Amino acid sequence: MKTSPFRDVFFPLRCCGCDRLTGSTIPFCEDCKRLVIKPDKATGLCDICGLSLSQCLCGKRLYYEKFSAVFYHENEARKNIFRLKFHQRRDIADTFAKAILLQLSERDFFEKTDIITFIPMRPLAKFLRGYNQAELIAKRLSVHSGIPCIALLTKEFSTRNQHKLPGIARSGNLSGVFEPEKAYTDEIKGKNILVIDDVCTTGNTLNEAAKTLLIFGAEAVFTAVCNVRKKEKKTVEQK
Ligand SMILES: [Zn+2]
Ligand SMILES: [Zn+2]
Repeated sequence: MKTSPFRDVFFPLRCCGCDRLTGSTIPFCEDCKRLVIKPDKATGLCDICGLSLSQCLCGKRLYYEKFSAVFYHENEARKNIFRLKFHQRRDIADTFAKAILLQLSERDFFEKTDIITFIPMRPLAKFLRGYNQAELIAKRLSVHSGIPCIALLTKEFSTRNQHKLPGIARSGNLSGVFEPEKAYTDEIKGKNILVIDDVCTTGNTLNEAAKTLLIFGAEAVFTAVCNVRKKEKKTVEQK
């Protein structure tokens, strides 16, 4: 998808948080701008994800060095991901890419990034949807940043729906699920790689992707998503 000078005339910029027209060149309306996750270096924030320690998902063994998210996966921002994934609204990938770029421009790791890649879908799942939303976002981020986007990973096995599994099974379920795309194995070696996904639920998917890239010689792996699911406060009664 090439950017044409007329594109914004026919497709005025929408807010990636709520899909309303913004009337400006930034991908947020005034309401959603207040909801954007603001990582900073204040004490009490995780230095990997920038979230408060009660929301941080970095507790387990991590393979990625840094994480960035635009919104929490709730309310309007959650609905907008739904439009992107299930309502054929591919244009939303572009506004989210712009939003991710704005987020990353405030994080020091982005300037070190050599390659942008994305969490792959199984071929059948991608065929049925017609696209992989993470791939669309990564490609638009590549256009806006000038950093090449390469499909470094493939998803080999069918994984059961993540949200139906308990936490431990989730991390086990994905072991070895990603493999490097054979044509690009050499591209991974010695590179700082940014992995894009639409939503981060537990961090396990990004972690498995990062593990695969490190095994095949990546120097470092960073991650960025549109939305991150808020950590649920579990009570003793919940199983
Ligand atoms: Zn909005
Ligand atoms: Zn964290």
